[in-house]
Amino acid sequence: MVDLKTQYEKIKPEIDKAIFDVIESTAFINGPKVKEFTADLEKYLQVKHVIPAASGTDALQVALMALDLKPGDEVITTPFTFVATVEVIALLGLKPVFVDVYDDTFTIDVSKIEEKITDKTKAIIPVHLFGQAAEMEKIMEIANKHNLYVIEDTAQALGSDYYFEDGSVKKLGTIGHIGATSFFPSKNLGCFGDGGAIFTNDDKLAETLRSIVNHGMKVRYYHDTIGVNSRLDSIQAAILQVKLKYLDQYNDSRRKAAEYYNNAFKDCEKIITPAIYEKSKHIYHQYTLKIINADRDKLKNYLIDKGIPCAVYYPVPLHLQKAYSYYGYKEGDFPVSEHLSKIVLSLPMHTELNNEQLEYITSTVLEFLKNN
Ligand SMILES: *Cc1c(COP(=O)(O)O)cnc(C)c1O
Repeated sequence: MVDLKTQYEKIKPEIDKAIFDVIESTAFINGPKVKEFTADLEKYLQVKHVIPAASGTDALQVALMALDLKPGDEVITTPFTFVATVEVIALLGLKPVFVDVYDDTFTIDVSKIEEKITDKTKAIIPVHLFGQAAEMEKIMEIANKHNLYVIEDTAQALGSDYYFEDGSVKKLGTIGHIGATSFFPSKNLGCFGDGGAIFTNDDKLAETLRSIVNHGMKVRYYHDTIGVNSRLDSIQAAILQVKLKYLDQYNDSRRKAAEYYNNAFKDCEKIITPAIYEKSKHIYHQYTLKIINADRDKLKNYLIDKGIPCAVYYPVPLHLQKAYSYYGYKEGDFPVSEHLSKIVLSLPMHTELNNEQLEYITSTVLEFLKNN
């Protein structure tokens, strides 16, 4: 699905030097590289505070912990996302309240949010799925009206822009009260291990977030709150500092590959290519098709037989997962997510796809669909 090796080879001298410098310095934890990368990312995102964390999952969990919620408080999100979004809600004793997604953009259906808001609702976690924005302007309106926090799950959309009605532009992850992202190797900005970060423009939240990732300490060995240990190590920060310079270029490469796919598939009536939400710059963390009037799973197996990696993100919506059956959701509760899980298929998407590969992938897909 991704080609991290070719990407690495193109910037090998820079990356190797960055890693080696950290090893030489032996400042493995909280070294200068962590501060430098954090400052670079703040500048790139135009956000006041970036707080590094050990993973995207941690970033989401710490974001929720900073809101000082009580067990049983409700957090609204979608069942069509990676499990981490919902896992952290459950782990903190909060209740995930699901809202279905749009059939075309796969992001939270904002017209269905307000009917789910109760006295216990405290936050909304929109997910910018596959590299495209949820409808942030409307989500912020609803949140302000009902006095709710918004945590943006930006794990799949780092570097993407949001275009507001008034013409202003903001990076995803910097619009809500808090944004969380992941630097997992295959994410749009990936390191060589695990990593994540939290964003906020709110000074007070930033102070709380910084203390939570550091065992709830503000002053060393004085613990004001229960925290966790969640750090981005210096080697990962050094790698990310190099790769951040290329992020826009990387996202452009993904968009070019998506354009190739779109053109190749535009006349095939069994394929619906990814919808574009006009307020968002789609950066294609995944390139996800909807396969209609054909057997998605047969196509998937055919492609794998032909040496083409492909995957279903996500095959079972979270409300139907065994681990979350406790919340009492059932089949039919979120029909759009349930239907999508049966028809979506993601094709290889990364920064190094060349025309020869794209030609092979698209012709193989079309060949199967012509005969099946
Ligand atoms: C990857 C991902 C996460 C979790 O990130 P990790 O760094 O793997 O913990 C959370 N939410 C979404 C939508 C993701 O894609």
